[in-house]
Amino acid sequence: MALIVQKYGGTSVADSGRIKKVAQRAIRAKEAGNSVVVVVSAMAGETDKLIKLANELIPFPDGREIDVLISTGEQVSVSLVSMAIKSMGHEAKSYLGYQIPIKTDSAYGKARITHVKPDKIVKDIKGGKIVVVAGFQGIDDQGDVTTLGRGGSDTTAVALAASLKADVCEIFTDVDGVYTTDPNVCEKARKLEKISYDEMLEMASLGTKVLQTRAVEFAKKYNVPVHVRSSFNDNIGTLVCREDEEMENTAVSGITYDKNEAKITITKVPDKPGIAHRLFGAIADANIRVDMIIQNVSEEGLTDITFTVVKTNLHKATNIVREIARQIGAKDINTDENIAKVSIVGTGMRSHSGIASTMFGALAREGINIMMISTSEIKISCIIESKYTELAVRALHEAFQLDKKAFAKGSSMPTP
Ligand code: ADP
Ligand code: ASP
Ligand code: MG
Repeated sequence: MALIVQKYGGTSVADSGRIKKVAQRAIRAKEAGNSVVVVVSAMAGETDKLIKLANELIPFPDGREIDVLISTGEQVSVSLVSMAIKSMGHEAKSYLGYQIPIKTDSAYGKARITHVKPDKIVKDIKGGKIVVVAGFQGIDDQGDVTTLGRGGSDTTAVALAASLKADVCEIFTDVDGVYTTDPNVCEKARKLEKISYDEMLEMASLGTKVLQTRAVEFAKKYNVPVHVRSSFNDNIGTLVCREDEEMENTAVSGITYDKNEAKITITKVPDKPGIAHRLFGAIADANIRVDMIIQNVSEEGLTDITFTVVKTNLHKATNIVREIARQIGAKDINTDENIAKVSIVGTGMRSHSGIASTMFGALAREGINIMMISTSEIKISCIIESKYTELAVRALHEAFQLDKKAFAKGSSMPTP
């Protein structure tokens, strides 16, 4: 008998009809002889609606209060799913994060799970119940409700699967699995049978929202097999697992995009030791993560520094930068929210040349200007104007022929 954690996203519980389907699928898994734990997100659009409501009252609501508010979306879903299962003659029990408890730190809006106590769940599943747990939420040491960041129900599911030593964590969503790029943007996107934790981690952290980054971190750390699949059919989806030989054979395996970043430029910064430390030290002290950074060549002892942060931190970061700029005698600050980051990802990139030039060539042919570039061993990212995002994604998908099969190591690059 296997222990299965099934997570259903917002579109999978969007109305009572879909909730019945979730209940049926969970019951099917139970009747096949498995122990079943279900994790659910808020109904589609609910979390956004709650955030909008708060913003109608105050532009930057208090973190503690917003978490109390947005955790309610999942509370609605767990009770409904549990009721639906019971209405079909099976035993079920719903739990909120604090009732398990799912312990987290106190970073409201992006809390990290520190500990899960699975005892109640174990007792209930032994008693034959389907346990239904609210995703996205936890409780900190002060007893305050916290949330895990957008898409956080994935992390709840994988963390529960890890603590219960589940055989698999199934992520049911509105697409058939993990694709070479967002199938809703590029119709030639190809579903992957398998993807390594490392590649999935890179893709998630670069904007592929089908799995939250922390969920993949948990899965990798505790070696939890994750099966991403559709809640609308019975097709086999994509297995996220350890890297194997076959996977290493590909240079580029995916294209990602992220429209959630904004860029800040400080012009005419005095080019002397300690300036970058002062600037980025102040930003780090405010717990703001900086992504890409470029510093121009200095002219007459002055330089420009540009960096990106997530849009929700733009206001806070700009206030900090304005004060530092004043102190160090920099000229001006500009911000730009109309940017997007497009990236190519692949573990095989480590041992392959010509990838960057193929990427830049594809963007150039579409007349897309690159504002910033950053690279790591297994990814290359470019910041472009956001209105070109979809065009860039399709052009890159085409250039790397991802609709066919990702490049085999040692094969030649397609000519631009
Ligand atoms: P859920 O509500 O089920 O958690 P999400 O909206 O968070 O679903 O994630 C699923 C969405 O992720 C898809 O609808 C798709 O548009 C998007 N997506 C982006 N990149 C990819 C990719 N490479 N493969 C699959 N889906 C992707
Ligand atoms: N409801 C939360 C969100 O919309 C969590 C999730 O869906 O995973 O981000
Ligand atoms: Mg999601």
